[in-house]
Amino acid sequence: MTHTLASSILELSAADLKPTLEFAKWCDAHDPLSGFRDEFEIPRDQHGAAQAYLVGNSLGLMPKAARARVLEELNDWASMGAEGHVHGTRPWIRYHEFFRSGLAQLTGALPHEVVAMNTLTANLHFLMMSFYRPTGKRRKLLIERGAFPSDRFAAHSLVRMLGGDPATDVIEVAPRDGEDCPRNDDIVEAITRAGDTIALVMLGGVQYYSGQVLDMARITAAAQASGAKCGWDLAHAIGNVHLALHEWNADFACWCSYKYLNGGPGAVAGAFIHERHHANPPPRLEGWWGTNPATRFQMGPDFDPSAGADAWQVSNPPIFSLAPLLASFDIFHRAGLARMIAKSRAMTGFIELSLRARDQKHFRILTPTATSERGCQLSILVEGGTATAKKLFDTLLPKGIVCDFRHPGVVRAAPAPLYNTFQECWRLIEALTRT
Ligand SMILES: *Cc1c(COP(=O)(O)O)cnc(C)c1O
Repeated sequence: MTHTLASSILELSAADLKPTLEFAKWCDAHDPLSGFRDEFEIPRDQHGAAQAYLVGNSLGLMPKAARARVLEELNDWASMGAEGHVHGTRPWIRYHEFFRSGLAQLTGALPHEVVAMNTLTANLHFLMMSFYRPTGKRRKLLIERGAFPSDRFAAHSLVRMLGGDPATDVIEVAPRDGEDCPRNDDIVEAITRAGDTIALVMLGGVQYYSGQVLDMARITAAAQASGAKCGWDLAHAIGNVHLALHEWNADFACWCSYKYLNGGPGAVAGAFIHERHHANPPPRLEGWWGTNPATRFQMGPDFDPSAGADAWQVSNPPIFSLAPLLASFDIFHRAGLARMIAKSRAMTGFIELSLRARDQKHFRILTPTATSERGCQLSILVEGGTATAKKLFDTLLPKGIVCDFRHPGVVRAAPAPLYNTFQECWRLIEALTRT
């Protein structure tokens, strides 16, 4: 039996967690968010049973309502053609505006600081182009060792494009020997040490491999104290952890929408540009969709910018790749990020505790233990080398459990609070430890 003073999983403390199936069942029965699972399509295994889908950090599941949102746009196209730009259910000329309040809420931004546009790596390029302005000896761009390859490629190629040399101009922060995650202290130290040679700090808010959440407020402040700009890649952070970009004073940020945001494969990404850069913006690569909508169709020769982050848009957006996000934002709005975070802490805590209780020897969790330093994801290193780890990983999918594998032997599991259950977490634990 489960004895706890909590009346819902949102009130559980770490001490309340128990490593048992009974406890998982109690949690699922006392989960105020459990109803949201029915609003998603859950992939099935080969026997027709619902998969334990733990890769929402890779591609979030489809909200059932996404179908209707995409169909509305197809129908408007069918019945109106070009008229849909102005007279559609949601006129395409203004379509990106329907995402503003949802994005602002999830990122802790003012509405005019965010815009849905492009894809993530494209946004990284556009925004770094604006905010990485090497001058004199201030030319260094700080990233992390082990950054997501696309972020690293974007940083290196930009440095080269501007005539620099990544070998000297890119600084990489790394974990200490024997540690899995870089310390916030060490990142701040590296920034401070670089002093007046550092031009831009660009890091992932949540590290894709380890699931570590960085202290974004502190690192942003340190970068700016050194006279540098600071931008954040929030691919694994948005819809997962608390963000306060405006208050933290980040210069810019960008993210994709197909991970925790459940926007669908290749969904339109997003960008944040702090309002203090709006009036006197840095140079940027421009396109017609960045211009004032009131004068845009006069087709004049001069760039008359839109207000705010909208001015960074270049093209009219792909409507069908934006539409599913409306369904997703509606769910986020009703579920509330604070409740989702509370559930997610209980879930990762439950997996970690249960794994430890069942097996002390064969697993090491790379994700930091502190709740402020983790989101939905647990990165579980299977000890004993890549072959051993891969062999264990390969037993998961036939059992209907979907995780992913990262070299050299890391199983990433990301229970998403909108659609995963504690009993699914238990299935993962059983599968990892009963082979
Ligand atoms: C998922 C992810 C990407 C993917 O980039 P796309 O441009 O969306 O293909 C890039 N960087 C990070 C840190 C990611 O987690």
